[in-house]
Amino acid sequence: MRALSNPLVLIGPAILLVFAASFASVWIWDRRHRHLLFFCAACLLFCLGTLSQILGMPDGHGPNAVTSAVLYTLSVLLLNDGLLRRSGQGLSWASYGVILLLITGGIAYFYYVDRQLIVRIYILNFGYGLICLATIWRLRRLRIGRVAEQILFWSLLAFSLHFFLRTVLTVGTVAPPVRDFGSSPFWLALQFSLAILGVALALALFALTISDTVEDLRHERSADSLTGLLNRRGFDERAQKLLDDARTWPTSLILVDIDHFKSINDTFGHPAGDAVLKSFGNLLQGAMRQVDVCGRLGGEEFAFLLPNCDAAGAHVFAHRLREAVRQARFDGLPHSRQITASFGVASARHGESLSELIARADKVLYRAKREGRDRVEVHLEGHVPQNPLSSTITADNHED
Ligand code: GH3
Ligand code: MG
Ligand code: MG
Repeated sequence: MRALSNPLVLIGPAILLVFAASFASVWIWDRRHRHLLFFCAACLLFCLGTLSQILGMPDGHGPNAVTSAVLYTLSVLLLNDGLLRRSGQGLSWASYGVILLLITGGIAYFYYVDRQLIVRIYILNFGYGLICLATIWRLRRLRIGRVAEQILFWSLLAFSLHFFLRTVLTVGTVAPPVRDFGSSPFWLALQFSLAILGVALALALFALTISDTVEDLRHERSADSLTGLLNRRGFDERAQKLLDDARTWPTSLILVDIDHFKSINDTFGHPAGDAVLKSFGNLLQGAMRQVDVCGRLGGEEFAFLLPNCDAAGAHVFAHRLREAVRQARFDGLPHSRQITASFGVASARHGESLSELIARADKVLYRAKREGRDRVEVHLEGHVPQNPLSSTITADNHED
């Protein structure tokens, strides 16, 4: 073990430990984000790699070069794997094995068999640069994501490119003598650029972690835990935004209420009722377009807001839904047990608030219930358009 010439060199490893502890703390608080453990492990291994070089552990240039190469390579792999896992991808164990073998095998070969420091520098730096570039390519969508994702994307790109740039710029001009490698301009430039860009990348990772946590909280605040659809608050927020946007005109609303749902609970039990609600939510979700907003307003009542869809279009859609519900079979119920639902449709008027629109749709939904259930009723102004399904469209201006 080498004596410390300057204790300031320990600042880098100390900063890495702080980042490792931060990622671990966020993971302990919310264990769903397992990729944070990968970031934590990447920081710890990079810290160990730096310490092994600073303290000269293990003794001897060869063992030290191979040990630090293993630690740094694992750290880079864990960082990239963590980022990929966050996006539902990831590195296979085979990739870990092959990359680790290639890089540390190369380092060992060019130390013990054909001693060439320059080649070892190229292997490490170009290897890490290429690993990061491959991740950037797989995560290229981040550049058009949230602000924290964009910051991370560009930080990782700068981090990747600096492995190539600093190697090309420094290694050719200042071929470092092996014995004084630790005080060579190459080593100092390397430490400096790595410290600046490494801290920038770690900060970007941490900003992304905070942003992900806030996004989760926002999602939980507006999601219905049983069906995964928007809850009343989430639906109101999203729907009001769409209503306020003139480009979505005409916009229609459909209210959906399962018929005689209480009897399902009474006959088959509350858990079976929950299972029906869940499947019902899936059915609605599967039927909607990407631009539509669908939510569970409460109990067994759901709503759709359909941008760029007039009353006739919403009517056709509601009929399709009604038929799909009739045909569906639900988990937890006997195969012969059919579920039906009633639908109330209204198209938004200029300047109308969401609650006024919901009240009009609710009025015709109530009529659908009154007239026998398993029906679609539409709240229309003025005239009734010719529509093959118009039997259930009701001119309703007299009710206003
Ligand atoms: P209608 O055809 O008139 O709509 O009759 P209904 O029985 O569907 O309506 P009602 O309002 O009388 O009853 C709704 C039932 O929905 C009563 C309530 O226990 C049940 N319910 C509300 N929320 C949940 C839930 O989260 N899970 C389960 N299993 N049942 C729920
Ligand atoms: Mg009901
Ligand atoms: Mg109801």
